[in-house]
Amino acid sequence: MLNQQVAIVTGASQGIGRAIALELARQGATVVAAARGVDKIRAWSNDAGALTPRIHAASVDVTDKASIDKLVEETVQKHGKLDILVNNAGITKDGLLMAMSDEDFDAVIDTNLRGAFRLTRAAIRPMIRAKAGRIINITSVTGIMGNPGQANYAAAKAGLIGFTKTVAKEYAKKGILCNAVAPGFIATDMTAVLPDKLKETVQQIIPLQRMGTCDEIAGVVAFLCGPAATYLTGQVISVDGGLHT
Ligand code: NDP
Repeated sequence: MLNQQVAIVTGASQGIGRAIALELARQGATVVAAARGVDKIRAWSNDAGALTPRIHAASVDVTDKASIDKLVEETVQKHGKLDILVNNAGITKDGLLMAMSDEDFDAVIDTNLRGAFRLTRAAIRPMIRAKAGRIINITSVTGIMGNPGQANYAAAKAGLIGFTKTVAKEYAKKGILCNAVAPGFIATDMTAVLPDKLKETVQQIIPLQRMGTCDEIAGVVAFLCGPAATYLTGQVISVDGGLHT
């Protein structure tokens, strides 16, 4: 379904990003899987069996413009074009507002929001030339609902929603569709650090009564990249077990 498509997925060294990269490759895309930890990407992609030749590990730090420009340039040079960008790289630096340092606030904004801005700005040029493209931003239920201890993260993820809607409006005429996916609580290293008590409480308030899996996010991202999603732009798709309705 994504045959002949070339995709960049950031934050692909583990968790949701790895699952997205694998799913896009499974659907036929050539995937440039990028993160700072390129060795981790090489390790999992070498174990991906028949998908290994479709997955290309690349190094990127989304806080660094030069590394982003290099990633996009090299992708287009090597694979001829860029059809899909998934802005998935993200970090948390949680803490209550009163105790939150400027550094922790800025670091989360810089990776989670400005990183997506930098990459989208670089990726939009080849997409405009091709008059086609799909951009998927991974936001969060926290960006919609807020969450105590995550003022920095919620601000970044809410900002990403406004960014998504604006890119959708600016580039619809060029054939570029931009949507966001808002995961709820997904079992990854990011949520593994949460206290067990909090995880239990969260699961009780999720209508589906469990955390989600990385594959459940990847499937929705692949749908948004595919041929069934041609009349869908500027949307935020919550994939959260019904937490936010
Ligand atoms: P993980 O912490 O497991 O993975 C985060 C990924 O981001 C890693 O691959 C990491 O790779 C990469 N990354 C971090 N900083 C940078 C950077 N500066 N440049 C490039 N890559 C970077 O997180 P998840 O898989 O759980 O989360 C993925 C996305 O989904 C994030 O945007 C997160 O906010 C969002 N999300 C997650 C939820 C969850 O419950 N897990 C819920 C809602 C949203 P490396 O360190 O190698 O660079």
